[in-house]
Amino acid sequence: MTKQMYSFSEGNMTMRDLLGGKGANLAEMTHLGLPVPPGFTITTAACHEYQQTGKLSDALLAELNQALTALSQQTEKRFGGTSHPLLVSVRSGAAISMPGMMDTILNIGLNDETVAALAAFTHNERFALDSYRRLLAMFGNVVYGIDEAAFDQVLTTVKTQNGYHSDLSLTVNDLRSIITAFKQLYLESGRGAFPQDPSDQLLAAINAVFESWHNHRAQVYRRQNNISESLGTAVNVQEMVFGNAGADSGTGVAFTQNPATGEPALFGEYLLNAQGEDVVAGIRTPQPVAVLQEDMPALYEQLVETAAVLETHYHDMQDLEFTIEKGQMFLLQARSGKRTPTAAVKIAVDQVAEGLISKETALLRVKPESVSEMLHPEFDTADLARQTPLTKGLPASPGAATGQVYFSAAAAKQAAENGQKVVLMRQDTSPEDIEGMIVSQAIVTTRGGMTSHAAVVARGMGATGVVGAHDLVVDAPNQCARVNQQEINEGDWVSVDGTSGALMLGQIKTTPAAVKGELSTLLNWAKDIADMGVYTNADTPSDFQRALDFDADGIGLTRTEHMFFKPERLLQMRRLILATDAAGRKDPLSKLLTMQQADFYELYQLAQTKEVTIRLLDPPLHEFLPHDEKEIQLVATQIGVSPDELRDRVAALKELNPMLGHRGDRLAVTFPDIYEMQVQAIMTAVLRHRKQGLEVQPHIMIPLTDSRAEMAWVRALVEGQIQRMQPETGAKVSYTIGTMMEMPRACVTADQVARESDFFSFGTNDLTQLTFGYSRDDVGAFLPEYLRQGILPADPFQTIDTQGVGELMKMAVNKGRQTKPDLPIGVCGEVGGDPASIAFFEEIGVTYVSCSPFRVPVARLAAARAKLNKVRTQTGDHGG
Ligand code: PEP
Ligand code: MG
Repeated sequence: MTKQMYSFSEGNMTMRDLLGGKGANLAEMTHLGLPVPPGFTITTAACHEYQQTGKLSDALLAELNQALTALSQQTEKRFGGTSHPLLVSVRSGAAISMPGMMDTILNIGLNDETVAALAAFTHNERFALDSYRRLLAMFGNVVYGIDEAAFDQVLTTVKTQNGYHSDLSLTVNDLRSIITAFKQLYLESGRGAFPQDPSDQLLAAINAVFESWHNHRAQVYRRQNNISESLGTAVNVQEMVFGNAGADSGTGVAFTQNPATGEPALFGEYLLNAQGEDVVAGIRTPQPVAVLQEDMPALYEQLVETAAVLETHYHDMQDLEFTIEKGQMFLLQARSGKRTPTAAVKIAVDQVAEGLISKETALLRVKPESVSEMLHPEFDTADLARQTPLTKGLPASPGAATGQVYFSAAAAKQAAENGQKVVLMRQDTSPEDIEGMIVSQAIVTTRGGMTSHAAVVARGMGATGVVGAHDLVVDAPNQCARVNQQEINEGDWVSVDGTSGALMLGQIKTTPAAVKGELSTLLNWAKDIADMGVYTNADTPSDFQRALDFDADGIGLTRTEHMFFKPERLLQMRRLILATDAAGRKDPLSKLLTMQQADFYELYQLAQTKEVTIRLLDPPLHEFLPHDEKEIQLVATQIGVSPDELRDRVAALKELNPMLGHRGDRLAVTFPDIYEMQVQAIMTAVLRHRKQGLEVQPHIMIPLTDSRAEMAWVRALVEGQIQRMQPETGAKVSYTIGTMMEMPRACVTADQVARESDFFSFGTNDLTQLTFGYSRDDVGAFLPEYLRQGILPADPFQTIDTQGVGELMKMAVNKGRQTKPDLPIGVCGEVGGDPASIAFFEEIGVTYVSCSPFRVPVARLAAARAKLNKVRTQTGDHGG
């Protein structure tokens, strides 16, 4: 018979899959000698069995009895006993942490009799009744599905009638009447009375926790975080310790380092005379943990020491849950703490400095997506300085966000689906709000502290978060909020500063973020470790400068067609295309030549010794032509032809499938003077730099190549022009001429194409289009449905399709290198900046990727991680 239950002294940290994260860590902490209340974990395997059969097996029930007996002996209390009653908590815990998404029930074991026993045993009737009303509300909500609001309503009514501001003012008599009213809610629910038998309570609670694996919010969270549906949850049954046992008791949450900024100091909050849920639910705003240092200095010291023990043991920032019962501290949970991207980077880099982890581990700890979140814009300092904040809350999750306000998760979700940028504003959030939170730029709450649900989730998702903005009054039913006489209505624009906690009306300008501090250190390590280079796709000096600020290795792709869209250039381009013979093309070509020389000169100037790859003109010619009648009239006047003549020429150039038409090499073959002009411009820029002391090696790239013969033809054209430009005296300019690899035929014949190419660069946009037969400009009509139906696992234009397109790439790499073993091979399509694709490119031997400037840092980290993961796979090292 497989064992389905492990006491905390039997398990350990390595048993995470079986015991879940919480169970494995409770066991590990027990072994470390930390004060963990005793208990046991029901395994995820038992959950799987439950999911299949829909019930708890006889074997499990028998084991549960044994475990309870052992727990009774250990605690010297008895479950259901009327002298020393044992109460337990029942809490979920999957292998991967899903904070707050599944259910928890505290104080199980209380009934009309044991509550009296607990009162007598603790000499504290108020505490016993307070625990009982908590059990009734939690059990009613989780097991019987009674709306939480119904219980809240009873509490609020009693408080209002008596003029209380806090639950702490409730008297014994108040609690008695609340308990009676709560029991009445059970009867009204139609599900029957609250079960008085502690064993019935326990079994129902275990069932409910297993069931909660499938609740809606847990499913949404798993989808959002790519957590497998098949993992299941473990259940932890643990002796209750009581933070609500009086003024010398309390409960809190602490992070061993600041989860918002990564600052190295114990960070957290606690509430006196409260139970765990009060802190995370954001119902009362807790005290910062630093206040504990004054309230209970010895316990604060103990907490600091415990934090240090755990951090050293786990080699990572920890998130702890503790309870103080009558001056004694207990630990209820430790797990790797959720943190903002900024904190993740700072903590990883600091831990390398402290010798806790290696640079490699640090790189593997930070997800590339976090880097992209860190590069989200910041508020423009000047614009920000002009604003008077409406109010301030706690800076729960840094960032600068603007959006339109919504007061419910459903409304936020709807607005986001309509393409709006939204800010979710709530009194507090609960796990039910997860879908609304996912789509929000920022989350603002009026209640709760830095460890409230809203704060934890915002940090986990990298969304901006401000919590506990007390002056703000949210009136969700009427879809408005008020602060200092100012009304905020649904749809109003606000700006949220997650770094200072300020909330402002209107949209504040933002500026791009920079790579600095610890992020820059981490990216330098990434650069040292990665094999693949990271270049940028840039068509303008300002794009290139941004990429250089992000430490790009150079330019992997300049799409020269993007240089022709400015009005003056467009006019010359139109004159060029519309000319009927070579003579007519001469003047516009010479004008474009001057402009292109300046373009290339500037790019080389910025690059200095870094490499720049310039791709010759690629798009269909008719993209440059006027499309509607108004434009035809205007252009006809500009270039001095009749509208009729122009209309005819536009019609002649029109193509049915322009993306498969007159582009790339096909332009070179039909309009050789355009490519000659571009090569002349490149060489002129190179020679000018040479004169000024900068030696540039031009890299010229040919788009859309299908075959060796085609590449040979275009290469000869380009080389002919270079020869004509080579200096008569002095050293020749060294250059390379390579091809885009973006036609399936070129991949299949890559050994041949390589004979004429000094490098390859995969254009995965076209290669994907042609491999799937999806017109890249028209996929919007069907691709979303393919993704929803699961026909495609991901958008192949965003993440490489390894099985199809990837297989062609692999073939091209292998064939290309058969011909030229050292052939440099890049990727410059959209997937060049995608972390998952980068891992694949490392596997197949790609030399470099090239992506848009903002993705350069992301790609750099992804390239290092790809290398590290490859080495680990090869050496079989799966350590942390
Ligand atoms: C590609 O096809 O992937 C590519 C980089 O070229 P373009 O997007 O300009 O066609
Ligand atoms: Mg292309």
